[in-house]
Amino acid sequence: MALKITEECINCDVCEPQCPNEAISMGTEHYVIDPGRCTECVGHFGEPQCVVICPVACIPKDPAHPEDHESLLQKFERLQAQQAQPALVK
Ligand code: SF4
Ligand code: SF4
Repeated sequence: MALKITEECINCDVCEPQCPNEAISMGTEHYVIDPGRCTECVGHFGEPQCVVICPVACIPKDPAHPEDHESLLQKFERLQAQQAQPALVK
C-alpha cells in the first residue's frame, strides 16, 4: 500500500530527500507522495523512511492504493529497472 501525506503536513522539507524512490514532491499546499513510486520503502529499508523522520506523524497508509508485500516488491524492481535503463522507458 502506498503511503499518503495528509494536510497536517507542516512542509518541513525533511522527508523528501529521505525517499529512496523519489516519490515525494511538493504539491500545491503541502508535500505529496506519488503512489506509482512509493513502495513503503520495500526493497530499500525495513521501514518507511518518511514515516520514521516526519515530526508530525502525518503519513498514513493510503487505502486508495491497496498493495501487498509482493506487489510493493514488484514495484521496487520495476523502478530499479527504469533507473538502470532510462532510455528504454517511455
Ligand atoms: Fe518514499 Fe519510502 Fe516514504 Fe514511500 S514510504 S514515500 S518509498 S520514503
Ligand atoms: Fe510534511 Fe512530514 Fe514531510 Fe515534514 S516530514 S514535509 S511534515 S510529510
